[in-house]
Amino acid sequence: MPFLCTLCQLETCYLSAFCPECVQIKRILNVYGRTNILEILETVCIRNNKQQQYKIKDIKNKKEENPADASYDDSE
Ligand SMILES: [Zn+2]
Repeated sequence: MPFLCTLCQLETCYLSAFCPECVQIKRILNVYGRTNILEILETVCIRNNKQQQYKIKDIKNKKEENPADASYDDSE
């Protein structure tokens, strides 16, 4: 009986508790330890309001400097 991946709860699994991508995540967790990984995720991925404003300002500046660059276009 298929069930959802234990970690992401998105992918259907048949033989394993984790989908292939979450198996990779689990391996990384095993190598570096959950405390280190949590610290890295909190430091790198989670942005406070001040950091978000810096990023928004940076993108706005780059967009103004080079309006022809479609990589900053948010109309997708
Ligand atoms: Zn998964």
